[in-house]
Amino acid sequence: MGVLFVCERLVSLRRSRRPLWPRLVVNLVTSVLALTTALLIVRPAAAAALQWSSEKPLGLVHVLHLPIAVRFVLSFLLMDLTFYWWHAANHRLPFLWRFHNVHHLDPDLDVTTAFRFHFGEVGMSAAFRVLQVCVIGVSAPAFLAYELAFQANTLFQHSNVRLPLALETALNLVLVTPRMHGVHHSQERSHTSSNYSVVFSWWDRLHRTRTPNLPPEQIVVGIPAYDAPCRQHARPGAVAAVPPAARLLAPRVAPSPLVDETVAPRGA
Ligand SMILES: [Zn+2]
Ligand SMILES: [Zn+2]
Repeated sequence: MGVLFVCERLVSLRRSRRPLWPRLVVNLVTSVLALTTALLIVRPAAAAALQWSSEKPLGLVHVLHLPIAVRFVLSFLLMDLTFYWWHAANHRLPFLWRFHNVHHLDPDLDVTTAFRFHFGEVGMSAAFRVLQVCVIGVSAPAFLAYELAFQANTLFQHSNVRLPLALETALNLVLVTPRMHGVHHSQERSHTSSNYSVVFSWWDRLHRTRTPNLPPEQIVVGIPAYDAPCRQHARPGAVAAVPPAARLLAPRVAPSPLVDETVAPRGA
């Protein structure tokens, strides 16, 4: 992470729209809550699911009676495919979007955005991970390998490092890269509703949700309704200083986030 943080300052892909330090404060507070939730809930839940899966091999890859190596590869691929579905659901289901938009509110995109998740989303992701492990029948080695790839590529795709275009284009044939995920963080609704893949980029091609990489200067990162600097400041007492996070503590009937102000096209 430290290497990416330095590199993205030296060779930046997108020009920063806001000062770095106020963003870092918000991202740090959000990250502490997210990482605490991960330690308290995600780890024990994943360990329990892996234990259950090893004792009761009822998952998909066990039922198919495949060689261990094939099971490993299939588990890895299915973990990534199903996480694509989870990410798309976070955008399409209003309840999940109330949490996931905390990640998208960042007005700039860099490696610190990779940690900026609402703790509620982290908790729900833990439940989804349990479901993935049990239904797919993931072994502990396959789970650890996927988690490693997942975390590493999450850092990479959020970084603001400008890679040579030819290199990034080649990497993007297989992996989600900074230009590809940058499109997903655009304020344009059609862009946000695309490029959901996390590790392998081909799931978007498969589901026809791929938006081709755009020149970085055409991407405006964030969510229009929360773009004003006054809505990005840390405020004492607010949960992670992010408006939707605070709203979640006092739920109300909300219009679909896909049509309300949170992802409305610019100018709407
Ligand atoms: Zn997203
Ligand atoms: Zn992201």
